[in-house]
Amino acid sequence: MLKSAKNAIVLTGQALNLEAGLDDLEVRQTTQQSNDTISSVPLSLRREQAAPTPSYMTIAELFKRGLIKNVITTTIEGLHQRSGIPQQNVFEVFGNCFTEFCLSCKATYRRDYDVTSPLSQSLYLPVPPPSHNSDEKETPVPPPLDGHLTGRTCTAAAKGKSGECGGRLRDMIVHNGDNLTSAFAKALEASQQSDLFICIGDSLSISPICELPVVAKQKRAKLVIINTSPTPLDPVADCTLHLHSMNLAMKLLMNKMDVEIPSFTLRKQVFVGNDFEELVEADRQYFDEQNRYRWTVFVQSPPNTQSSLQSFIESVDFTFPPNSFKQTTITLKHPPFQVTRVGHTPFDVRVDLHVVANSTRNTIHLNHKLALVKGGSAFIANIDLTGLIE
Ligand SMILES: [Zn+2]
Repeated sequence: MLKSAKNAIVLTGQALNLEAGLDDLEVRQTTQQSNDTISSVPLSLRREQAAPTPSYMTIAELFKRGLIKNVITTTIEGLHQRSGIPQQNVFEVFGNCFTEFCLSCKATYRRDYDVTSPLSQSLYLPVPPPSHNSDEKETPVPPPLDGHLTGRTCTAAAKGKSGECGGRLRDMIVHNGDNLTSAFAKALEASQQSDLFICIGDSLSISPICELPVVAKQKRAKLVIINTSPTPLDPVADCTLHLHSMNLAMKLLMNKMDVEIPSFTLRKQVFVGNDFEELVEADRQYFDEQNRYRWTVFVQSPPNTQSSLQSFIESVDFTFPPNSFKQTTITLKHPPFQVTRVGHTPFDVRVDLHVVANSTRNTIHLNHKLALVKGGSAFIANIDLTGLIE
C-alpha cells in the first residue's frame, strides 16, 4: 500500500511521546492550568531531554525514501524535525514548545529548552541581584505565567529607536479554545491531496484533528490506523493495527519492507577547561607557601552559543588525583559547573558528565589537563550517547 501510494502522509500523536519518555500533553496542560508545581507533574523527562524513538526514526526513513510526503502531528516537541524531516514538511497543529515570539515586533526565537515550562523561567532567566534588605529571607519567585506569556522579553533591535525591543514573548502552543495554528490549514490541504493517510499513535478523538483522516477518506485516500487502542475511526479505515507499542508496530512494518530502522545519535558540545590567577601577597598569608595559584576548572556551553547544558546534563563530577584534596570527587547538580581550588602544580582532572540522551541516562568521561600557563586551557568536546568523539 505504501509503495504504490503517490502522496502518502502520516498523522502522529501522543502514543509516540509516551514511548519517548514524555507525559501526555493533555494531562500536562490540565495540570498546568490547575497551578500545580512542576514537581508534581508525573513526567519522567523534561521535553528538551526527549529524543526521537524508533517510531520517529521509521517515519524519517520513510520520508527520506520518498514514501511519505508530509507529517501532521499533534505532538509539540519537534521530534520529527530532530529525526531529520525538514521543518516545511512537518505540520505541528498544536504548535512547538521550543518556539516563542514577540508580541510587539513578531520576532521568533527557537530555544533549546521548553519555553512553556515554569521551570524554564527559573532555569534560564538571568538571576536577580541579591536583595539588600536583610529582613527579606524569601527566595525570589519567578513571575507567574500569564496564559501564553513566557516571562522573557524580546532582545531584537527595536524598530525606529536604539536599544532592544523589549516586547513580551509568547509561546506558540494551542490550548483548548485557542485558534489553531496556520499549520492546520496546511495539514488540511495535505489531507485533501493525499492518496494514503496513515495514523500512528493518535487517539483520533480530538476535533478538528480527527476530521483530517475523514477529509482524506472522502477524497478517496486509503486510511490506515495504527494505535495502542481502538479509535472512533476504525470502522471506516481500510486497515487497522492495535499494538501496545508503536515502536514494535514500526519494527514489524520495516521488517516487512526489509528496511532497517536508523538509530538516533544525540550530539552535543561542551566547553571544558580551566582558568587561573596568581595569588598576590595579601592572599598568600591564608595559604601554604606552595599554593601559588587559584584555579577554576569548568564545564560550560561553548562560547557564542545559546545552548543550555541543563537540557542534557543532570550532574557533573570533578575528580582530582588521590591525596591532592580532602574531597577527591565533587558533584555539582546545577550550573555553574565549576570548582575553584588553590595549588601550584598541574594535574589531570577527571570530568564525568551524567547526561540524559535518547531517554536513557549515561555517563560521559572526559579528561582535562589543568594548565597553569597564560590563559589557562580549554577544549570543545563533541559528545554523543555512546561516548566521546574528539
Ligand atoms: Zn520584539
